[in-house]
Amino acid sequence: MNTRAPHPSAHLTDRASQALQRCGAPPPAHDGSLVVTTPIDGTELARLHPHTATDLDIAVSAAADAFTVWRAVPAPARGRLVRRLSELLTQHKADLAELVTLEAGKITSEALGEVQEMIDVCDFAVGLSRQLYGRTMPSERAGHRLMETWHPLGVVGVISAFNFPVAVWSWNTAIALVCGNPVVWKPSETTPLTALACDALLRRAAADVGAPDALHHVLLGDAAVGEALVDDPRIALVSATGSVRMGRIVGPRVAARFGRVLLELGGNNGAIVAPSADLDLTVRAVVFAAAGTAGQRCTTLRRLIVHRSVADELVRRIAAAYSGLRVGDPFDEGVLVGPLISGRAHEAMRKALERAELDGGVRVTGGERVDGPGESFYVSPALVRMPAQTEVVREETFAPILYVLTYDDFDEAIALHNAVPQGLASSIFTTDSREAERFLASSDCGIANVNIGTSGAEIGGAFGGEKETGGGRESGSDSWKAYMRRATNTINYSDELPLAQGVEFG
Ligand code: NAD
Repeated sequence: MNTRAPHPSAHLTDRASQALQRCGAPPPAHDGSLVVTTPIDGTELARLHPHTATDLDIAVSAAADAFTVWRAVPAPARGRLVRRLSELLTQHKADLAELVTLEAGKITSEALGEVQEMIDVCDFAVGLSRQLYGRTMPSERAGHRLMETWHPLGVVGVISAFNFPVAVWSWNTAIALVCGNPVVWKPSETTPLTALACDALLRRAAADVGAPDALHHVLLGDAAVGEALVDDPRIALVSATGSVRMGRIVGPRVAARFGRVLLELGGNNGAIVAPSADLDLTVRAVVFAAAGTAGQRCTTLRRLIVHRSVADELVRRIAAAYSGLRVGDPFDEGVLVGPLISGRAHEAMRKALERAELDGGVRVTGGERVDGPGESFYVSPALVRMPAQTEVVREETFAPILYVLTYDDFDEAIALHNAVPQGLASSIFTTDSREAERFLASSDCGIANVNIGTSGAEIGGAFGGEKETGGGRESGSDSWKAYMRRATNTINYSDELPLAQGVEFG
């Protein structure tokens, strides 16, 4: 394993503060109780003031007032706000990426990619602002027209996870805004500076195009702030991204008040490698999907289900590729694997590896802690051959562990693939088109790919998953419908009053 420990830097706090200010936000506080550190070396970046219940009440009231104005603005005109946001994101791409690296530990290329995803979804939303199409249906009654229209829904509450600190916000916010809704955002307590930067950019965009300032609010804090948001009946839609544990709490609470909920929860993504697979391509795809972002994507590849005839060779080649991965400071050029987010994440990884070994798993490579400065947790990505899909394999451990299972029969591979509680992303590597089609028809995930890894989705498709992943869909395709209210309209342009289904009354 080619590793290099990062250099401790006294300048990370300044870098965060400067990037934030370049985005138009005030310098961060250093006297609050919300301590923000960087996973790069544990340096404290800020001490922010978490928001209170009163702050939440004020923010939601202001957003509800802004809704009455914004919903009356024609959708294409709402699109102008998102177009301006896209311009500002483009201008501040490097600043936001710097904050993503500082707070979430992503390597620069992936951090820039995350900001590019924000720009892409803004472009999509601007186009959408002229395409919020409803259908017309033939009416069964003469002189009648039947149609559906889509209307703004209300205030959208966004709860987001640490690992996509800005992209998930933009998927929700760009679409919510063109749909006519204000947004109240509770970002991860681990990544509040990126949230303050986004808020500053959106407020500037609103000022530039004359949109209400109160269209967007950030509420900083932990789960308690999230729960207050979840319980507020003025929040029409709660879009929550994070662990299954969080979704189990949020889902029923929103349902109890008949609110609308969109859940984007954990994944435990698998790929099948068939005997006909192009192994060169497979190795490249697997290494990015399993080790990229230090295994901290919801779509990270965690289970590789390989035909017995190619398993030994594939494992050997993945292990060889892993040995060339540089682990270290995510700002350093050439580093491909940055830090884990916390000591807790490292502990979860260590325990999972221990359990896998107790279950008969054999560690082929990786899984060791790599020296880093200060309070940091760097690890080498682990590759573990498993005799069976045991309990630990069926759980999501948010760290770079790739379990390898073998199969003999294609039906067995599909059954293994689907036999986990989560249902986010899946892939098959094969050059047999029948096998590929059978996989696409059988995978129970929201995302099913052929000859490409499980991670790194484009914004054009609907993103989300089934089963414990929560069933929500965000970003492209017709995901916008979750952010709008549908009305069915029947218009009688005749001078008769025929009743539907031929009913006679009087
Ligand atoms: P987390 O569940 O710990 O936190 C996510 C967010 O939920 C944070 O803002 C947190 O403060 C908030 N939260 C936690 N408990 C809450 C509660 N009871 N009520 C309201 N809000 C609450 O997740 P994390 O560690 O930040 O992120 C990693 C997890 O997120 C992984 O499981 C990953 O798979 C998942 N994730 C899913 C997607 C997706 O699109 N499906 C995307 C990114 C991350």
